[in-house]
Amino acid sequence: ASRTPDATTTMICGYCSTGCGLNIHLKDNKAINLTPTTEYPVNLGMACPKGWEALNVLNADDRATTPLLRDSASNGKLRPTDWHTALTTFTDRFKAIQHKHGPASVAFLSTGQIVSEEMALLGALAKFGMGIVHGDGNTRQCMATAVTAYKQSFGFDAPPYTYADFEQSDVIVLTGANPCIAHPIMWERICRNQRSPRIVVIDPRRTETAVAAEAMAGEHLPLRPKSDLTLFYGLANLLIEADALDHDYIREHTTDFDAFAKHVADYSLDRVANETGLPAQQLRALAELIGSGKRVSFWWTMGVNQSHEGTRVAQAIINLALMTGNLGKPGTGANSITGQCNAMGSRLFSNTTSLLGGHAFTNAEHREKVAMALDIPVDRIPSEDSLAYPEIIEAIDKEQIKGLWVIATNPAHSWIGQRDFKRIIDKLDFLVVQDMYRSAETAQHADLVLPAAAWGEKDGTFINSERRIGLVKKVAEAPGQALADFWIFKLIAQYWGCGEMFAQWESPEHVFQLLKRVTADQPCDITGIADYRMIDECNGIQWPFAKGADLSSERRLFEDGRFYHADSRARFIFERGRPMPEPVNEAYPFVLLTGRGSSSQWHTQTRTSKSSVLRKLYPQRVYVEMHPADVRRLGIEAGEQVSVASRRGALQAIAFVTPTVQRGQVFVPMHDAQTNRLTDPVFDPYSRQPAYKACAVSVRRV
Ligand code: SF4
Repeated sequence: ASRTPDATTTMICGYCSTGCGLNIHLKDNKAINLTPTTEYPVNLGMACPKGWEALNVLNADDRATTPLLRDSASNGKLRPTDWHTALTTFTDRFKAIQHKHGPASVAFLSTGQIVSEEMALLGALAKFGMGIVHGDGNTRQCMATAVTAYKQSFGFDAPPYTYADFEQSDVIVLTGANPCIAHPIMWERICRNQRSPRIVVIDPRRTETAVAAEAMAGEHLPLRPKSDLTLFYGLANLLIEADALDHDYIREHTTDFDAFAKHVADYSLDRVANETGLPAQQLRALAELIGSGKRVSFWWTMGVNQSHEGTRVAQAIINLALMTGNLGKPGTGANSITGQCNAMGSRLFSNTTSLLGGHAFTNAEHREKVAMALDIPVDRIPSEDSLAYPEIIEAIDKEQIKGLWVIATNPAHSWIGQRDFKRIIDKLDFLVVQDMYRSAETAQHADLVLPAAAWGEKDGTFINSERRIGLVKKVAEAPGQALADFWIFKLIAQYWGCGEMFAQWESPEHVFQLLKRVTADQPCDITGIADYRMIDECNGIQWPFAKGADLSSERRLFEDGRFYHADSRARFIFERGRPMPEPVNEAYPFVLLTGRGSSSQWHTQTRTSKSSVLRKLYPQRVYVEMHPADVRRLGIEAGEQVSVASRRGALQAIAFVTPTVQRGQVFVPMHDAQTNRLTDPVFDPYSRQPAYKACAVSVRRV
């Protein structure tokens, strides 16, 4: 049969937060191929391997095609069942748990992978319809720190940038970020910068980005793991000593600078050089570069967020931008790069730990406003915040939460400290997993699996890292009886007996109209977006977009220097550093670094491992990067099998000998489930984000 397409439509990619536009080529209304969209302002005709392979993972053999119910009569195996039985069981079991132990005894864990409309319906159904109090998302694992930092510093969770800033900076400071492989299209945007920018990569590991930056006359600062807070306070002190400050900006748009200046006065050049391991000369040169009056943009990702003190580190970066006036102008900003395709949607519309539209559950006026906008009784909205993800896990361990509903996330692979996690989730009375693959590690523990449609098999919107709302479209049929998460939630509402409450939530596009109302007068106001068609025709629209907003401008935040606190000023927030939770010792002499291993793999590989092309681009055996001097000392040969062990567990890996890691450090990619046998379940105290990046391990030959 001919593979010549008879039509093409455009939508955005469903992996990372870059949000690239893809042309989907159709035959008889079904996707047969794709190419990156040249006109889309995000990717300008580029895509990474995951994007190119996005359609091919939909046809995997292990898609969940029917509901599956654990059957005690046949050795407790998961057996296919019908939707009626599945939904009746879901309702009966969760209601029975709530009846016996109270409404808060059932919780949910959601995701940054589904469309905003589904997130909103899930959160509304769970909290307003089912009386669930506690629910959180897997964005706790990636973005919670940036959210908390922005809220405290700016008054709202508001990444200020537009991708054009990559091309308009004179100095690009990347901290704990490896865009070459984690956000390859963003890296391409940096490469398009015609201003000959200086690129500075701050990372203990000599990442692909560090190597590329050096090749472009940039530099790599291989600081000691978790010495970033010291580094940024030290840089602030050097800037103050050199009076390389934007005094007008500080005076007119910020508060608490004097106290901050007093705080960082303790961070002498000697101290900072000593604690970070970086030469004093290099520190001085970086401070001079930042303070030179050029356009400086600061970018960070998981190296900052996934830390025991990530919120304060993110704010230390924000402070550098504030004190040098590098905010609200082209090529500047204190810019957190998000991870998942719709982590930003989750930040506004998940209804998990914040109320829809960036509102607060604890604020009575906000509850009234949201109830009015959605036409639901205000007393259905909880007046307390949800427990955060780690607290939900803790409550399961204490047997306070007995029922859990997991949607489009795979914590049995990704949650920190797997030994405890598996023991804990097996305490649940009832675990439901809603996922597109029945083979996901968490689905293996489930009592009930609900088969979900994937990206490409449903409609809705995602929001990317630069706050651009883009469309996702149905271009393929979900296999078997799998349904879009949206329709699963609608069915659950009916079976639960609260379907009436969601009568207006007729389709994803109807929900988008409801969400617009919820955002009115918020910093994320999108009331000026007419409908999906407008989003499509405009190649995505960045928030805010209130009625009458100008489409033509670059949509960067804080151009007027007004922030979202009541006094319109940004805050300098700071604190003494905390010691590393698990320092190395004789028994565990290496610091374990974790992170992405390749641009071809995505998180727990649930989807990307289904593509034969992507599998070929990434080693299928677990490896550990080790410094040549360390392997020599331990008598390990390159390519030899070694055991990497922490106090919590061990894994076996191939020794990959490379100077990308420093002596005394090892790196294991996060994509294999075993990695989290090693990690230490400690959390940032403000964001409750897990600190995946630095625990103590040993390495030995096996
Ligand atoms: Fe998709 Fe991200 Fe790759 Fe773009 S960079 S194609 S959004 S995975």
